[in-house]
Amino acid sequence: MQNCINQLKKNHVGIIKENEPLSAHTTMKIGGPARIFVEPGSPDSVIKAVEIAQAANVPCRVIGRGSNLLALDTGFSGMIIKLGKGLEQVQFAGSDIHVGAGHSIVSLASLAGRNGLTGLEFAAGIPGSIGGAAYMNAGAHGSDMSKIIQKVHVLFLDGESEWLTNEEMQYSYRTSLLQKVRPGIVLECVLTLSKGEPEKIREQILANKKYRKDTQPYDNPCAGSIFRNPLPEYAGKLIQDLGLRGYTLGGAKVSEMHGNFIVNNDKATAQDVLDLIAYIQAQVKAHYQINLETEVEQLQ
Ligand code: FAD
Repeated sequence: MQNCINQLKKNHVGIIKENEPLSAHTTMKIGGPARIFVEPGSPDSVIKAVEIAQAANVPCRVIGRGSNLLALDTGFSGMIIKLGKGLEQVQFAGSDIHVGAGHSIVSLASLAGRNGLTGLEFAAGIPGSIGGAAYMNAGAHGSDMSKIIQKVHVLFLDGESEWLTNEEMQYSYRTSLLQKVRPGIVLECVLTLSKGEPEKIREQILANKKYRKDTQPYDNPCAGSIFRNPLPEYAGKLIQDLGLRGYTLGGAKVSEMHGNFIVNNDKATAQDVLDLIAYIQAQVKAHYQINLETEVEQLQ
């Protein structure tokens, strides 16, 4: 481990911290320490950090803004690479946007609107990074990343990096190639939007943000939808119909506003959240014979 830290420092891969609390990097505000925590200053530094982790046989996970993550109470014993500053470059070319994986998707939606580009309004209120959104195929309001992604630059764990087309990303509902089929790190993307009216786009963004504030516990520590919707059913509706809104286990609580959100109500531990997830899954299975799958990802 120490050799790995020394190599990271020697190669100037960015900001390097030891035993960094993951609760500071997840929107649930939960999670123990990451043994090594790296914030690379450039795409090349990401590549170097992964190479060093692999050479030292240290497990390595990438995170963006931690908005779809449950970090465990025990933390992470390997290296966490957080993509943010240093991977936030943006370039506009006609209707295309070339953007780094660390850029906030919410602010990109506003920036695109100011540049007269429509197509990203759905993302107003999704508090993730472009990389996390491309990995998750994040979506809302009837659209998702697969509708606007032209290509994605991915670093695969064998050290190869490749531009993948939209088709090659194998997008479906909240799913991409990178989740289970071929793990890799999104470094940057090219998005293709359409020409639009800045004022209309701004109004749509404000309307989408208002809808969220009115229907979701947006200001509480949470990780968005906990479960994938078992379409055509909606997880939130199934949970609500079981009378589980407000149900509490330890410090974790099913939101009073939305059945598919668990909030960190009072110093919740990751175990509280996992226990509540298991309880909800058991109730839904018993009443509807439906297996709810989690959308939120565990950092392990
Ligand atoms: P993280 O939470 O940091 O990571 C999530 C997963 O993505 C992890 O497995 C991580 O390893 C992986 N990952 C992150 N960055 C990369 C990268 N560069 N390359 C490869 N893998 C990467 N989601 C929706 O789809 N629709 C919504 O409407 C929505 N609403 C939300 C509302 C709230 C209040 C909150 C808190 C969350 C919401 N989410 C929603 C969930 C979340 O914002 C999205 O899934 C988002 O895309 C996650 O991005 P992130 O950068 O935070 O990823």
